[in-house]
Amino acid sequence: MFSKIFGGTGLQAVMAGRDAAGKTTLLYKLNLGEVVTTIPTIGFNVETVEFRKTKITSMDVSYQGLFGLIKYYLRHANSLIYVVDSADREGLDENKRFLNRFMSEDEFKTMPVLIFANKQDLSNTIDLPKLTEQLELYKLNDRKWTVQPCCAVTLDGVYDGLNWLSFAIQAQMEENKNEKNKSNENENENENEKEN
Ligand code: GDP
Ligand code: MG
Repeated sequence: MFSKIFGGTGLQAVMAGRDAAGKTTLLYKLNLGEVVTTIPTIGFNVETVEFRKTKITSMDVSYQGLFGLIKYYLRHANSLIYVVDSADREGLDENKRFLNRFMSEDEFKTMPVLIFANKQDLSNTIDLPKLTEQLELYKLNDRKWTVQPCCAVTLDGVYDGLNWLSFAIQAQMEENKNEKNKSNENENENENEKEN
């Protein structure tokens, strides 16, 4: 299933979210291969899975001071998968702060974002429109983003989200290529003008 979705493009994702959002569960359920845990800094766990052209690097965001470290991983990624426990009302503020911080970084301004509204099997989840509003996701408007309800335990909704992400990454790669061609053309025009 996974290779079908990402066979062509590959996936280089940072997966982030609060502690207990369901990231580790998701990594194991996807069953892509060995999950390797490293601790680059005390109190900061990173789990990595590699599978063909895919690499998912997962981390908890509960340590605000470590955004610099997360940035390092984002620089080597082509997408962000942000996992939210949809029943976690206390965590809304922290989630919002992380996403705002991420959005404010110019270097990631075209990076596609898949938000997994996880734990939809629970009865007390925040409904999707409300979650979208409270996380201020409307601020993501000029980039490729989506909120996908899911359940990491059963994988319900997970492949729908990943499918969307695969298309988003491909489309963004195309756009980046076109942008690059355009700026090359402009450079060439400028050169020609100089010569003339
Ligand atoms: P992480 O800290 O983000 O890696 O979260 P974990 O994957 O360790 O999950 C934290 C807890 O939430 C565990 O007890 C999981 O079994 C549980 N969990 C994860 N996903 C779901 C889900 O979709 N539904 C429910 N009910 N529990 C989940
Ligand atoms: Mg974990």
